[in-house]
Amino acid sequence: MTADSLGRASTRDSTPLAVAAVKESGRGERRVALVPAIVGKLRALGVDVLVESGAGAAAHFPDAAYVEAGAVVLPAAELYRRADVLLSVGRPGDAVTARLRAGQVLVGVLNPLADPGYAHRLGTAGVTAISLDGLPRLLSRAQSMDVLSSQASAAGYRAALLAADLYGRYFPLLITAAGTERPAEVLVLGVGVAGLQALGTARRLGAVVRAYDVRPEARAEAESVGATFLELRSVATAEGGGGYARALTPDEQRAQQGELSRHIARHDIVITTAQVPGRRPPVLVTAEAIEAMRPGSVVLDLARGDLGGNVEGSRPDETVVTPGGVTIVGADNLAATMPAGASTAYARNIAALLAQLVTDGALAIDLTDEIQAGVVITHGGRVVHPGTIRLLEAAAPAGPARPVAESGAER
Ligand code: NAD
Repeated sequence: MTADSLGRASTRDSTPLAVAAVKESGRGERRVALVPAIVGKLRALGVDVLVESGAGAAAHFPDAAYVEAGAVVLPAAELYRRADVLLSVGRPGDAVTARLRAGQVLVGVLNPLADPGYAHRLGTAGVTAISLDGLPRLLSRAQSMDVLSSQASAAGYRAALLAADLYGRYFPLLITAAGTERPAEVLVLGVGVAGLQALGTARRLGAVVRAYDVRPEARAEAESVGATFLELRSVATAEGGGGYARALTPDEQRAQQGELSRHIARHDIVITTAQVPGRRPPVLVTAEAIEAMRPGSVVLDLARGDLGGNVEGSRPDETVVTPGGVTIVGADNLAATMPAGASTAYARNIAALLAQLVTDGALAIDLTDEIQAGVVITHGGRVVHPGTIRLLEAAAPAGPARPVAESGAER
């Protein structure tokens, strides 16, 4: 690959670009980055489509379906040898990462801001890393590539279904010969993409739904899916940039927790999705708030990850029942529990990205493009993503000279 002064580069040569979907290795991961229905879309870009044998099996896409759609199914060793572009959902494990070679392109959700060291390794290895969590999501031409939204939507939908499954009563109001059952009361904290989908799904199941968020626009969005919006007296709105929330001050956070606790106690189900970009998720549900909930209540923490979560006592990928009988689920990757639907949406997002990156069957990296400036993390043997570079520099201020971006927007 050659690069010009603007960081533009191309893989253009005589053989078609080989784009390959890998088998995921993450814990509990059942999704796949490419589904048979999207193979034709990629081939129409003039690329060869490869799929690692068994890559779609956990999402109910057998190898034969990919072959029928026009892909070539290969064992891992040959796939990694032949691929120019590797498509993944999550970050590949260490063994797979070690297999990548200079000049290959890795596309996935790589979370460089959570682990900039990983990006540094890829850059040093000469791998071009493209991480879709860096997409400028509010840009209208980026919306078809928005994997954070498509996967959050799947997670929110699954959250409502999982809550209904774990709750030992009906969701809807039922008036029967055996008496009347009151509807479940569901509170969703954080009304972004996942929160809205959870609200809408719980509402369709018949629950009474309420919502809270610190962004003022969230009220109308929550009301549009039938929720009542909670107004807290003690906390002002807290908008950050780009449609995201800002982190609350410690005083605001304490006031918020105290006031929310009273609302939490009267709900049967609490689903939390609150995130602040580049920060630990805020704690919205304290241990005291959970103690005050009725036995049989269910709390789902979709924000739970290795960095923290919205609910005290939740653990990544674990379900715990408190002595007071409240079930707490650390639901960090619910999209993976709906593998066929989530993978199909993800594959459409990836196809939209490749349609923008591939011209005449060749890949063109152009860091002056606003979308690519957000998602290209490493290129040309170095880290080019400013946010990741800042973190690397902060981690090793006195260390050896760090790779620095020469171009690209502030990210
Ligand atoms: P997110 O995952 O970053 O956070 C989820 C929600 O948590 C957000 O609504 C946020 O305001 C809220 N939150 C953060 N701290 C909170 C706190 N202390 N208390 C209560 N709530 C808190 O959000 P997201 O789902 O990625 O969406 C972020 C924004 O981007 C939203 O405004 C969404 O509408 C917007 N968005 C727009 C598009 C588009 O225009 N196409 C696409 C995707 C997202």
